[in-house]
Amino acid sequence: MENPTRTRCSVLIVGAGISGITAAKELAENGAEDFVIVEAADRIGGRMRKEDFSGVTVELGAGWIAGVGGDHINPLWEMARHSNLRTCFSDYSNARYNIYDNNGNIFPAGVAAEAYDKAVESAIEKLENIEESDCNSDETPSSPKRPIDLAIDFMLHDFEMAEVEPIATYTEFGESEFLVADERGYEHLVYKMAETFLFTSHGKILDNRLKLNKAVREVQQLRNSVVVKTEDGCVYEANYVILSVSIGVLQSNLISFSPPLPSWKTEAISKIDIMVYTKIFLKFPYKFWPSDPDKEFFIYAHERRGYYTFWQHMESAYPGSNILVVTLTNEESKRVEAQADEETMREAMEVVRQMFGNEIPDATDILVPRWWSNPFQRGSYSNYPVYVNHQLLQHIKAPVGRVFFTGEHTSDKFNGYVHGGYYSGMDTGKALVEEMRGEMARERENHHKFLLQPLLALTLAQPGAVFDIPRQLLRLHSSSNLGFST
Ligand SMILES: Cc1cc2nc3c(=O)[nH]c(=O)nc-3n(C[C@H](O)[C@H](O)[C@H](O)COP(=O)(O)OP(=O)(O)OC[C@H]3O[C@@H](n4cnc5c(N)ncnc54)[C@H](O)[C@@H]3O)c2cc1C
Repeated sequence: MENPTRTRCSVLIVGAGISGITAAKELAENGAEDFVIVEAADRIGGRMRKEDFSGVTVELGAGWIAGVGGDHINPLWEMARHSNLRTCFSDYSNARYNIYDNNGNIFPAGVAAEAYDKAVESAIEKLENIEESDCNSDETPSSPKRPIDLAIDFMLHDFEMAEVEPIATYTEFGESEFLVADERGYEHLVYKMAETFLFTSHGKILDNRLKLNKAVREVQQLRNSVVVKTEDGCVYEANYVILSVSIGVLQSNLISFSPPLPSWKTEAISKIDIMVYTKIFLKFPYKFWPSDPDKEFFIYAHERRGYYTFWQHMESAYPGSNILVVTLTNEESKRVEAQADEETMREAMEVVRQMFGNEIPDATDILVPRWWSNPFQRGSYSNYPVYVNHQLLQHIKAPVGRVFFTGEHTSDKFNGYVHGGYYSGMDTGKALVEEMRGEMARERENHHKFLLQPLLALTLAQPGAVFDIPRQLLRLHSSSNLGFST
């Protein structure tokens, strides 16, 4: 009897975020439909994730469609338009004029603008110095010291403001960013895409090629296949695997590889940083902050870099929601993830009171996403080193045997973004289809040789003999063996 926990398929896709789903769609559109998608979570979408917070849909992960309004259309913007996803334009440029000190005073526009320009100049200079010294300089560039400079430095670097260096997302797709403010969530776009090739009914995916709550722990490459084991004891055997887990997961020891990944791959994996980015949502009984659109983003200047620095009110996205969002990154994110939410609420309230005074009410609710502690994420998105060489880019996305790698971190142009995940999934899907077709052609050829050689030998042994080789013997090897529908 067949083992019910053992599944055979042509392609196994690990992860159902935008890259995994796009790769599967690419396979399906090319007739390679014998795939299974295994996903550790109980949902698809990965880092595109909405949650209900005090009656409002908030985005815990990706929130913005970044890169809109340029010569080329961002594919995510196109999809959002098709789905009538509600979005709001975000004008970050005002943030620098809404910088609060710890007495609740806003820095005068002139002071803020001067500090901002100086920070941009110094960032560009630093970048040029690194370039000139070919990354070998031991000189540590001087760091900003004043709270306002620290706040601006945080904004420029941790939020990738395009003034410092050209970023492909903005140069290619345009400089505007739109916040998704739709109760279906940003993840709706992943569902819409999945619907085009997976069986769905009443908005639910019922296709048994999608397996949720399946955490992959082992990937074993054999001569002609890959065996993948999940935490719950299921075994999948496939001709090929597409691994779409994040760079953070690859850097952790969640998945073991047998044989181990080659050193060129592990070195590339270790060279890419993972950024932790945490949006903390705070609900208030009423609004006490200035809620004009030009006050949407505001900054708190503290002597500790990144300490509850970057704030946003949700009035433009959800009028009357009385929600503030503060964004923390990296070490501050890890610190708050490790502490109780009550403590985070206390710290955040102290900062809100420094900006808006002691009379303001306490927040009534808090939501702290934990991207770093999540074993299936281990961070928010990849961050390439300032200078990346071509080889690193090649190595990070190159397949190892029958295991193909995809995900936003493998997109050399758009890593870190949703559209990076989308393009990487598409590229990996295409590369695999090509590989499968190549393998099919090689098998056909071998099959041919295998059948023809003995006949040829006989022909040569009996001069003048004519053999009628049955056509079906020469028929090309059945394409369905590789997962292509015939
Ligand atoms: C807080 C935050 C803010 C962001 N903001 C933006 C933004 O505003 N705009 C933007 O464009 N991008 C943003 N991003 C980045 C964007 O969300 C990602 O680049 C993109 O969603 C990544 O898609 P992916 O398919 O590569 O990876 P994922 O979405 O992570 O998909 C990988 C999937 O693999 C699954 N998985 C992991 N390990 C296993 C395992 N062992 N077995 C089975 N399944 C596994 C995971 O559960 C996940 O579903 C943000 C991300 C975060 C976290």
